[in-house]
Amino acid sequence: MSIKRRDFLKATGAATAAGMVGFPYLSFAAGKKVVVVGGGTGGATAAKYIKMADSGIDVTLIEPNETYHTCYMSNEVLSGHRTIESIAHGYDGLKKHGINVVHDMVTGIDGGAKKVMTKGGQSFDFDRCVVAPGISMKYDAVEGWDAELAEEKLPHAWKAGPQTVALRSQLEAMSDGGTVIIVAPPNPFRCPPGPYERASQIADYLKHHKPKSKIVILDPKDKFSKQGLFTGAWKKLYGFGTDNSMIEWVSGAAGGKVESIDAGAMTVNAEVESFKGDVINVIPPQKAGMVALDSGLGDDSGWCPVDLGTFESTLVPGVHVIGDASIAKGMPKSGYAANSQGKVVAAAVVAMLKGEEPGSPSYVNTCYSIAGKDYGFSVAAVYKLAEDRSTIVNMAGGLTPGDASPEQLAREVQYAYSWYDNIVSDIFG
Ligand code: FAD
Repeated sequence: MSIKRRDFLKATGAATAAGMVGFPYLSFAAGKKVVVVGGGTGGATAAKYIKMADSGIDVTLIEPNETYHTCYMSNEVLSGHRTIESIAHGYDGLKKHGINVVHDMVTGIDGGAKKVMTKGGQSFDFDRCVVAPGISMKYDAVEGWDAELAEEKLPHAWKAGPQTVALRSQLEAMSDGGTVIIVAPPNPFRCPPGPYERASQIADYLKHHKPKSKIVILDPKDKFSKQGLFTGAWKKLYGFGTDNSMIEWVSGAAGGKVESIDAGAMTVNAEVESFKGDVINVIPPQKAGMVALDSGLGDDSGWCPVDLGTFESTLVPGVHVIGDASIAKGMPKSGYAANSQGKVVAAAVVAMLKGEEPGSPSYVNTCYSIAGKDYGFSVAAVYKLAEDRSTIVNMAGGLTPGDASPEQLAREVQYAYSWYDNIVSDIFG
């Protein structure tokens, strides 16, 4: 047998064996490098799904923290129904998939040189880069409030972690009869129903432990996500609309826009009047995570424009932006949306690395809110890309009906918990 023939048999034997152990195809993207910036919901999903789609691709995920706390279910930490540990997730699962997880802070993404630089002085080359840094806060948008006050005294707790724990401690320390003020943000922001679920969860805690207390939501907006379902729940559970309501919502039209905060006097000055709080939770206006903006991925809106089919930046070719930081027109800024976009970008990136045309994606989002014991509801949607790629179109879905039975509402809470277990396993498992 000639050497050539023996080599050929070896090669075909190897290919057959590979086929038998289930490799779906030979990797045409082998050795290509993808760097994912941000190991939160969107980034971790994208890293995992790129690696699962083609194990030959060299995937590096860069994230400063060794533990990620999900914002979803963090409102239950405020009510005491969960511990902060129950929403903490590490990166061992992703490492087992063969992803190179680097704990460092990215300081710049150079789309021209195709390099990512870190605070620790490392530099990573990429063929394609996926950026998912979430949000940053507009600290200068609320007079009298800043990053330092947010650390401890007036937390936003809009990134789950130490501030969630700080806010919970303040609620525990507050005496019965105290007032909690929630300053709600203008659109667009992370998790549109989030501030109202937070008010509900805090009310659930106060109702059982400090029933003389009140919550005031100061809002620049005149309407909010799932408003009918929230106010329906508040009526049933917390006396909303009566003189004795535990929750008061001051809309923009009613003067709820906040003009300034006096942290020393614990006073929030809204257009209509000043409110004194015992606990003040400032959820400020938001923009894309700073690293995206510093790397030229954002436009004047403070968010990152992308092609909605591939999430490739329209400003920096070769770099994709997903999750809250992106302008995913038609989808909300939610964890489930970021997870869905992580899968869409994974398919697009793998196709592009192989020199193939990315397919036309579909996307999904469900958002559960828990308003009190055995009282949940949700909004769900399946989307597709508009033919002219200008928006993501809601194709089907629905909202929990306003006249849902107590059994249905209780079941939604169980669905919410099940959704949580499934999504964190999908992302980090
Ligand atoms: P993130 O998950 O925030 O991840 C961003 C990651 O990037 C972080 O880990 C961060 O450390 C990292 N990062 C930032 N800068 C850098 C850098 N320079 N270098 C490297 N890494 C960096 N969504 C739902 O679907 N359902 C819910 O029920 C729900 N409830 C919520 C409740 C609350 C109170 C809040 C605040 C949010 C909720 N959300 C919910 C929204 C959800 O948490 C976000 O939409 C989701 O986390 C967005 O994912 P992301 O990947 O864009 O950002």
